[in-house]
Amino acid sequence: PRKPAPKPAWLKAKAPMGETFHNLKKMARELNLHTVCESAQCPNIGECWNQKSATFMMLGNLCTRRCGFCAVPKGKPEPIDFDEPRRVAYAVAQLGLAHAVITSVNRDDDNVGAARAFVSVIEEIRMQAPGCRVEVLTPDFQGNEEALRLVVAAWPEILNHNIETVPRLYRVAKSGGRYEKSLRFLEHAKELAAEMFGDRDGGEIVTRPFVTKTGIIVGMGEEMHELLGVFRDLADRKVDILTIGQYLRPSRDHLPMARYYTPEEFAFLKHEAVGMGFKHVESGPLVRSSYHAQEQAESTGLA
Ligand code: SF4
Ligand code: SF4
Repeated sequence: PRKPAPKPAWLKAKAPMGETFHNLKKMARELNLHTVCESAQCPNIGECWNQKSATFMMLGNLCTRRCGFCAVPKGKPEPIDFDEPRRVAYAVAQLGLAHAVITSVNRDDDNVGAARAFVSVIEEIRMQAPGCRVEVLTPDFQGNEEALRLVVAAWPEILNHNIETVPRLYRVAKSGGRYEKSLRFLEHAKELAAEMFGDRDGGEIVTRPFVTKTGIIVGMGEEMHELLGVFRDLADRKVDILTIGQYLRPSRDHLPMARYYTPEEFAFLKHEAVGMGFKHVESGPLVRSSYHAQEQAESTGLA
């Protein structure tokens, strides 16, 4: 087999160490919490954790799906632990976070239960860490209307759902997902928010904005024109924030990497996306959905 291309210099991240890093690791262990930072082997863990920025992953450490790019372990999950949201909120409060990102594995076995856990983490954080902004990065709930309604009604400051890749690559990269379903999820969330909280006349939300966000990983074999097509689809659904980052193959059992994008290409993608109307675009080799999440939210002026 061909040897993989050497990692370019722009992908070298800081090594994980420092006091805050160790404290966070200890707290997660003690509270029996998982972070996507660790489970997905995120390269930014050193930088993020030392800045007290972490993404908690609820609903267990085993995912019911098998996305080709993802390092989260797969398998049959345990029943949902409905005390977990309380412990996540406790950790958020202890860390003094101003912006919390909460995600989960996919729970195709219980979409409404998964949604309820998101609702309760939003409510718990509001109680235990008032003033902290809550960003939830959710699965598609398999298009379950009740699940999405529950989450929208809890009104997180940001609702994030990752589109991950171009439609042609869903089969190999995101096999349990459907491109159209994820697009519809992002579109329908805004419709529901307008219906629940908006000014009925114009459909515009007048009370406070409902911010949606999505992310895409590049380097899995997509073409530039396909990426731009996805950006257009997302912009048409009025998605506010877009993140674009480089795919790094977690192991030889995962989808091969097609190529590295250069920093110039990331800058080009950002330029194109901004031109299509996204309010904030974070684009770069080490960008992940939750990278600089606080800055992303602040720069939209929406959250
Ligand atoms: Fe964690 Fe996100 Fe930072 Fe990665 S980018 S270390 S997943 S907070
Ligand atoms: Fe990973 Fe896919 Fe499961 Fe999300 S749904 S945790 S990306 S395997």
